[in-house]
Amino acid sequence: MNTHPVCLVGAGPGDPELLTVRALKRLEAADVVLADDLIDPRVLALVKGRLLRVGKRGGCISTDQAFIHALMVREALVGRRVVRLKGGDPFVFGRGGEEVDALRDAGLEVEVVSGLTSGIAGVAAAGIPVTDRRASPGVILVTGHPGPGCAEPDWAALARSGLTLVVYMGVARCAGIVQQLLEAGMAPSTPAALVHAAHTPAQAERFGCLHELPALAAALGSPSLLVIGTVCAQGVRAALARTAEDPARCGAAVALVGRG
Ligand code: SAH
Repeated sequence: MNTHPVCLVGAGPGDPELLTVRALKRLEAADVVLADDLIDPRVLALVKGRLLRVGKRGGCISTDQAFIHALMVREALVGRRVVRLKGGDPFVFGRGGEEVDALRDAGLEVEVVSGLTSGIAGVAAAGIPVTDRRASPGVILVTGHPGPGCAEPDWAALARSGLTLVVYMGVARCAGIVQQLLEAGMAPSTPAALVHAAHTPAQAERFGCLHELPALAAALGSPSLLVIGTVCAQGVRAALARTAEDPARCGAAVALVGRG
């Protein structure tokens, strides 16, 4: 039996218009799609084959990773076109590396179709450029929830880096992360933002200063990105430019752009 390459497809942060052309082609051609649970329903609606939800949401009952590997291998070995659909980019906090290893160990070919990662495209949806030569020479994408087998980020080193910090999976541990950054000398007045459910109908963003971030995280919940750094002031300017936005919601960061 000829096997097709198993395809790890990045679904992007939400809106199906942000799928790559290749991602759309692979989705439409798939016999079976194994989808994570953060995938936007509008993207799932594009699936023509059999759709299997294999979510791994932290804290909820989730499908065992080994079972997902076995299922992909089984489906591919009977000749089906298998797509493993992941939110954002498959190689950014998506266990894509582990899945590629498991598939290759089973003797299968793998294709990886990159997607727009939420930590860049989702942050942009809040009007924040992750780098800006006037404000930040670089960006760090980091997890706030390393999980078993993954080292805790060196928050003190990140605090000193002078780079934009974009924290994935950081809502639950936001207070502890902020405390470590402050203890390492980051100014409490550092601009910060919380971007929730970017590029979905539930998108919401809030701006403030670093010390206010835990309150913003508690208010909006998951899935959200924590963004820390001077570039967030750009998002405040964008929010103020949208006149419907209530400047009061921008918190202390409004002062950073000389308003409010
Ligand atoms: N592979 C994904 C990340 C998966 S980890 C990517 O490249 O985007 C899951 C975390 O990603 C969430 O806890 C949240 O921090 C972030 N996330 C994913 N989609 C998001 C969205 N639409 N808006 C805000 N944060 C999102």
